[in-house]
Amino acid sequence: HAVRPQAGPIETTMCDYETIESVNSELYRNLHEVVHTPFFRYFQVDLYRDCPFWQENGFCMNRECGITTVDESEIPEKWRAASLSKIDLPPPDQRIQLPGCYYRDSDYCFLDDMTEGDYVDLSQIPERYTGYSGPSAHRVWKSIYEENCFGLSELNLMTGQSPSLVTLPDTMSDVLREDTAAEDESTGACLEKRVYYKIVSGLHASISTHICREYLNQTTGEMSPNLECFVTRVASHPERLQYIYFNTVLLLRAVARIGPYLSAYDYCSLATPTPHDHSDNPEGDDTLNKLSNVITIAEHVGKFDESVLFRGENANVLKQEFKNHFRNVSRIMDCVGCDKCRLWGKVQTTGLATALKILFEMDEKALNPHSNTKLLQRSEVVALVNTLHRFSESLEAVEDFRKMWKETGDFD
Ligand code: FAD
Repeated sequence: HAVRPQAGPIETTMCDYETIESVNSELYRNLHEVVHTPFFRYFQVDLYRDCPFWQENGFCMNRECGITTVDESEIPEKWRAASLSKIDLPPPDQRIQLPGCYYRDSDYCFLDDMTEGDYVDLSQIPERYTGYSGPSAHRVWKSIYEENCFGLSELNLMTGQSPSLVTLPDTMSDVLREDTAAEDESTGACLEKRVYYKIVSGLHASISTHICREYLNQTTGEMSPNLECFVTRVASHPERLQYIYFNTVLLLRAVARIGPYLSAYDYCSLATPTPHDHSDNPEGDDTLNKLSNVITIAEHVGKFDESVLFRGENANVLKQEFKNHFRNVSRIMDCVGCDKCRLWGKVQTTGLATALKILFEMDEKALNPHSNTKLLQRSEVVALVNTLHRFSESLEAVEDFRKMWKETGDFD
């Protein structure tokens, strides 16, 4: 396997990407089942906070932008905000002193206040074309890159290639052999800043892939895959595709790290499981069985070496800066002028922030499920797994687009 010119968290060999490619179908199938279980479907989110950075008037009026919320009475009581806040939230002055509260002062995002917001059933809300675009959408992306991305965005915004000049490579490995290290190096950015950029650009690319996978066909009025959309937005920039992999590996590594914690988690929606069932907790067991396959795959292919980051002289300053930037991204999501886009934006920034927290803030002691039973909030676990599902789905879509590309026979 080719050795990459510049070492980074997952850049030492190409094998890591190829391995993900080889297991993604299985990963996706398992994740798809997991995110349809009651525990992972329901998510509480406050979608109507003011944009803290500018006056946002660009609300999308398309029907596709809207979402249907779920009445709180449909949510198992155990997971409702009121019960959770009774159990989970000690008075503010005691929070930091509680054993196991590693996360409260080290978040990479702002979690919504659990006393506000609506419940949604994520399995019923596809991430796809909504028609949200124009200045409002561009402003959000621009501010994520420019204000929060250490000034690296200009480079990428200026390298747009004409889709007619590019070809969609035959295999994913071909795409990933594209050497982006030179581009990274030319910015003179340190490893952490480049990692930050890859996370954001990879998220953007994954969202674009979902849009192109279910794009509105103006003629038929139906949603269908749009190859040109995918080539223009993603495939003509090989590094964007690479960053989808980068995020997938990062999320898998986080899942692998908290594998024991996830395995010990209670996924049952009932306060007391019924005694007539053959198992004490059939619903929870079923969810765990499905999730176990995901954890096993994550343990095998989640090869992200977080230890190479935040080392050296300015490690703590850099980490704090990284954290602040990522927190700001989660706040910028309140400026997204389309409910459905905002919802998935929030879920995925929370999922990625949770992964970063698991990788950079938790030592082995913190990860021990017995000594630290309240390591993560339910919303973080739900967001982490749903975000991994989104990225794995993007990689599935890439496979489908590659087949479409071959069928067109248009390789010049
Ligand atoms: P945009 O995707 O808006 O990109 C703007 C510029 O950024 C491009 O011109 C390019 O130079 C650069 N760029 C693009 N991709 C990358 C990348 N991966 N890395 C680096 N630079 C890049 N629309 C939907 O239809 N459905 C959704 O679910 C949806 N969710 C969204 C979620 C968020 C958080 C945001 C901010 C927007 C969302 N949108 C969604 C809008 C969508 O992302 C696009 O903004 C819109 O489709 C217009 O696309 P565009 O081709 O003008 O380029």
